[in-house]
Amino acid sequence: SAPDGYRGRFAPSPTGPLHMGSLVAALGSWLLARHAGGAWLLRIEDIDPPREVAGAADAQLAALAAFGLHGDGPVMRQSQRDVPYQEALDALLATGAAFACHCSRSDLASSGGIHRLCVARAPRSGQVQPAIRLRVADGAVVRFDDLIQGPQQQDVAGVVGDFVLRRADGYWAYQLAVVVDDAAQRITDVVRGADLLGSTARQILLQRALGLPTPRYAHLPLVLDAHGRKLSKSDAAQPVDPDQPVAALRTAWQLIGQDASALAEAGDADALLACALAAFKPQAIPPGQPPADIAAQRRT
Ligand code: GLU
Repeated sequence: SAPDGYRGRFAPSPTGPLHMGSLVAALGSWLLARHAGGAWLLRIEDIDPPREVAGAADAQLAALAAFGLHGDGPVMRQSQRDVPYQEALDALLATGAAFACHCSRSDLASSGGIHRLCVARAPRSGQVQPAIRLRVADGAVVRFDDLIQGPQQQDVAGVVGDFVLRRADGYWAYQLAVVVDDAAQRITDVVRGADLLGSTARQILLQRALGLPTPRYAHLPLVLDAHGRKLSKSDAAQPVDPDQPVAALRTAWQLIGQDASALAEAGDADALLACALAAFKPQAIPPGQPPADIAAQRRT
């Protein structure tokens, strides 16, 4: 039976139109939240202006509405949240959990991009802004039980190292923003694509450092091509057509292991979602092929 007070979310980055991978994450997180009688919140993760596509956030929200996927309450926008991110960073700097770092990508090349000890010194002029990293203790193995992927563990020091919270270019890192905002939105259940499985241990370390609760995690199967390969960037970027919501929702439904016949009667998005919710079997969601090496995705 459903845990009390379930709060889920969908948190797209506005780097382009919604594609099938994002629709799977949206539908999967919506179904799990509504099945539990819970809330489903939306958050636009617009913290990376260099990667942002103008108009994409509004297009994503319009597409979700066309798919019948309506969030509860106002949409959170990360571009408006400098103050809470700065407060979290200041708290970590004050305790020494975070530190300023001038190491460049090339400084870390010989250690595979993994930061353990600073090799670069602060430039004499002091005019170059450092990155801020979280210090990760040696042997900090994080374990968690993913509701779809099963038990996970990651030696964060060994495979990721001290990770970036604020980039040298001044932008907030995804890991910091997502942790602060999952807590601020009181998210109990993070449901998202398995491409983010490898980020979860970092997020748990950060929650512990900030004294925040750790939500449950469920990572949905990656959308693969007909040969079982992860979609290439260009294929994965193929937009889903918000003018054909029924067709796209049927595909997403089957990609999360659900019975296609349950939706046979549905003629529009709202009718389809009602049938889907009635027939939804959370335990039928397959793990898919999780990336062989979750450490390989060193997303910053
Ligand atoms: N904004 C991230 C993305 O679109 C998702 C973050 C999350 O769900 O934690 O890949």
